[in-house]
Amino acid sequence: DTAEDQDPEETLKPRPPVVTIMGHVDHGKTSLLDALRGTNVTRGEAGGITQHIGSYQVTTKDGQKITFLDTPGHAAFTEMRQRGANVTDIVVLVVAADDGIMPQTIEAINHTKAAGVPMIVAINKMDKPEANPDNIRTRLLEHEVIVESMSGDVQDVEISAKEKTNLDELLEKIALQAELLELKARPDRMAEARVIEAQLDKGRGPVATVLITRGTLKRGDTFVVGTQSGRVRAIVNDQGKQIKEAGPAMPVEVLGLGGVPRAGDVLAVVENEQRAREVAQYRQEKATEKRTALAPT
Ligand code: GDP
Repeated sequence: DTAEDQDPEETLKPRPPVVTIMGHVDHGKTSLLDALRGTNVTRGEAGGITQHIGSYQVTTKDGQKITFLDTPGHAAFTEMRQRGANVTDIVVLVVAADDGIMPQTIEAINHTKAAGVPMIVAINKMDKPEANPDNIRTRLLEHEVIVESMSGDVQDVEISAKEKTNLDELLEKIALQAELLELKARPDRMAEARVIEAQLDKGRGPVATVLITRGTLKRGDTFVVGTQSGRVRAIVNDQGKQIKEAGPAMPVEVLGLGGVPRAGDVLAVVENEQRAREVAQYRQEKATEKRTALAPT
């Protein structure tokens, strides 16, 4: 598969980090994602259903870009990883200061450790009078998450997603962590991307949100994703604007797919339509073989 080969060192350029926010339900993941983007989409939330706000990029005060992935829940993170899609560079673990280390907090810690991804702890809801951040830090010790003030190496920051306090500090810590990782990708090649999510849009047809993992995706590019071939009809950025091309670590919507791919699928640009059809057909045959082999006799 194309995802396995590597680009020569000299072709690599620094790229923004890709961050996933994890934590227990109601500890403020959506609020934080929302606050960092600077928009309020929880408005109009109906029947307790959290509205989708999508993945996006922010720029720190120092001009560094950070990509935030909107992965709906820990299951998606794990499934993506099982499919070889290790797209997250840094996990922000949200813990509510008025609550504690809850089952999904522990789950998030375990997933993060299994993925070998560095973690930053965001102690949220600091605006609440009952907030007790030291309790959180102490409780984290039991799960071998040792923050800096306890002579560990995990960065932590006290925030309020609601009041939007200390968010710049959180971004700075992410940027600092990213610097240590020396993240790079080759921009000047045919693009490869990972599908973050996809759906059938009434007006636009199949739409996939993808994260560019290397190369530059351009309008008009021919690609294969899963067992389908397609041609980039439009690229839509996190502001909802159509753009001509997208480089490494950018989350974008792609239009022009032949069907709805699965989260974790690789989207790979190929030379031409004939090649796309060949690859797609080969993959379809493989998929059929697999099904036949697995079918009960
Ligand atoms: P999620 O389930 O982790 O995505 O949590 P949400 O972002 O949906 O937040 C759960 C609840 O906590 C909502 O009612 C939020 O308004 C509230 N909340 C989130 N962040 C804060 C915060 O910093 N301070 C306070 N007081 N409430 C918050």
